[in-house]
Amino acid sequence: MLKVVYIAGMSRSGSTILEMFMATHPQMVSVGESLHSIMAERATQHTPEDNWPCSCGHSRQECEFWGPLLPQLRDGSLTDAFELVVARFQEFYPGMIFVDSSKELRSLELFYLPLARRGLIDLRAVHIVRDMRAWASSVTARRRKWGEKTHYVVEAYRWLWSTLQALRFLKRNRIPTMMVSHEDFTSDSERYAALLARFLDVDNGFAEEKLTRARAHELYGSPHLKFDPQRRSRIVYDSTWVHDWRPFAYGPLTIPPLVMNYRLQNVIRRNHVDIERGAAAG
Ligand SMILES: [Zn+2]
Repeated sequence: MLKVVYIAGMSRSGSTILEMFMATHPQMVSVGESLHSIMAERATQHTPEDNWPCSCGHSRQECEFWGPLLPQLRDGSLTDAFELVVARFQEFYPGMIFVDSSKELRSLELFYLPLARRGLIDLRAVHIVRDMRAWASSVTARRRKWGEKTHYVVEAYRWLWSTLQALRFLKRNRIPTMMVSHEDFTSDSERYAALLARFLDVDNGFAEEKLTRARAHELYGSPHLKFDPQRRSRIVYDSTWVHDWRPFAYGPLTIPPLVMNYRLQNVIRRNHVDIERGAAAG
């Protein structure tokens, strides 16, 4: 049965580097953000992003995975297009584990859950969460750069709402989930490699030194990671947010997201202890 690992979480939470890291495993291949790729191919208006090459280094047309598939994704329903992606994967990478970094709950609901319920795939989720203060600081800075109006406090509550929504969705649909803290992952990827291997029932074949050669076909994702070989070659933590005054100044106004942030980090650590104990017992 096809094993699918779905990366859930919010944009700008470090999902691209996690996806690349997973794709260093000899049994895993990432197709990137499949939903985004399908939607972009069907759109009538295109953005410059739609001409980016694939993270495998080839142009979209020359990518061994997406190249022959893209023209076929323009017709039929979204589900039809998605089924073509899965069929192509099984034909092209038989026996491999399918990694999707779409992140949104929509593609889980639309594509993966129906297949999992019919017993056609073994679905597992890796839910990545970035520290609320780092996330809100980074998103505020980025939106301002684009000329969009936003506020740190608004983003803090958006983090809270979106994180709660993902947690509830994964739980309600009983999807086996491993939570990943972006901060913990970037500070100790070796430990995470062992935890991921345990969670996904595979040998620990993840290798940070193989990041630039990871088998990943990401058409979108973080452009820094895709196009800067230096940044893609190792896992580093972006700590710019610690110099931002907003997380401190707006602390009193963001108590609910801060409490959730703190509780979540504890839950993530406890889950890891459980996985490790399980490994010891098994
Ligand atoms: Zn590719």
